[in-house]
Amino acid sequence: MKILVMNAGSSSQKSCLYEIASEQLPEYSPKPLWEANVDWTHYQGFAELKVKTAHNTVLKEKIKADSHASATEHVLNTLLQGDTQVIEEAKEIDAVGHRVVHGGQEYYQATVVTEEVKAAIDRLSTFAPIHNPANLEGIEATEKVFPEALQVAVFDTGFHSQIPLPAAVYPGPYEWYEQGIRRYGFHGINHQYCAQRAAQLLGRNLNSLRLITCHLGNGCSLAAIRAGKSIDTTMGFTPLEGLMMGTRSGSVDPGILIYLLRKGIDADQLDEILNRGSGLKGISGLSADMRSIQSAITEGNSRAQLAFDMFIHRLRSHIGSMLAVLGGLDALIFTAGIGENHALTRTAACEAFAFLGLKLDEAKNQASPKDQDIATADSAIRVLVIPAEEDWAIAKESWHLMRTHNATRQGKG
Ligand code: ADP
Repeated sequence: MKILVMNAGSSSQKSCLYEIASEQLPEYSPKPLWEANVDWTHYQGFAELKVKTAHNTVLKEKIKADSHASATEHVLNTLLQGDTQVIEEAKEIDAVGHRVVHGGQEYYQATVVTEEVKAAIDRLSTFAPIHNPANLEGIEATEKVFPEALQVAVFDTGFHSQIPLPAAVYPGPYEWYEQGIRRYGFHGINHQYCAQRAAQLLGRNLNSLRLITCHLGNGCSLAAIRAGKSIDTTMGFTPLEGLMMGTRSGSVDPGILIYLLRKGIDADQLDEILNRGSGLKGISGLSADMRSIQSAITEGNSRAQLAFDMFIHRLRSHIGSMLAVLGGLDALIFTAGIGENHALTRTAACEAFAFLGLKLDEAKNQASPKDQDIATADSAIRVLVIPAEEDWAIAKESWHLMRTHNATRQGKG
């Protein structure tokens, strides 16, 4: 079975093609047959494409693209022609799995895309104005190129849909909740993947585990997971709440916003400041990238040091809050760009929980661990580093739906 995964963001579009046996899913993610990345950030009106196949054929192009849709179609055509061709005909693609950021309260499970589902994704753009339209564009582009494939939507909010109301409802007027203003949470596809992978790595039943997953990438969020279910998370109504991030502020006193609005700043300016001018970048004045923050610290830059110390302070205090919600902890999990690669963040975060008997094995922590337990043998809490595998998680969900779909078709036939 060939499954194409589309992961569309505001400024980039990642896609990959997996070949998976129809009978059984492999335990680990297989190497994709084809991977592509489209980036719109560097040149106005142009897209940079990078395509790589399993045979290491690489195509790099800068193409004129007046719309995201035309660039996406162009990249999808590299599956069918040129040096990066990996399929003969469009109909070889059985399913296309799309990461959709916001599924609202209605959509929490992987869903076959219909006109109704597309209308809902469009409607939910009011809650995710950057991401949902990009996701919809991705769906429409693949429908055009692969009209026979089953289109599947996997929602980033889905995993958090069962968060109990005391954690999901904001303490404003009850009408907010009735209007759909509630905690949705994000990064759900990866939080769920990490919980399942942690159970595998620990050789434990997921139902017996209390986990905190720390997704620390450009966007950062934590999830408190009990028996495989998310019971709290730091992101909220939007992906702006919670931890300090690369360019996003995370939680700040809402009174600051009222103060700034009264001083004459408008909503668009606030949006720009909080989403793109805050976090590591806003405090350091240098960069949103932890690697640059780290090298500036080495050179004695005090604002980079402050940015890092704030990042850690907030990470620790939110881990503490998730810990209280869970009432105990079996494993702390680090994932995504910073979580997977930055040993110092892991050391600093874990230090605060030594009083619980959490002991990090520093040698393992420093040795670029992947899918590995980095706690000492006598640590009271396991500490795992799990590379984010969103694309593979989406492919697996699509595989399951495709099997159900085929079984139903055969039943009818
Ligand atoms: P996204 O949230 O966009 O998927 P990633 O999970 O790829 O992002 O995380 C990107 C971030 O990870 C970068 O901005 C950088 O801060 C951090 N990062 C990546 N590699 C390293 C590294 N070797 N050391 C420290 N931080 C890193």
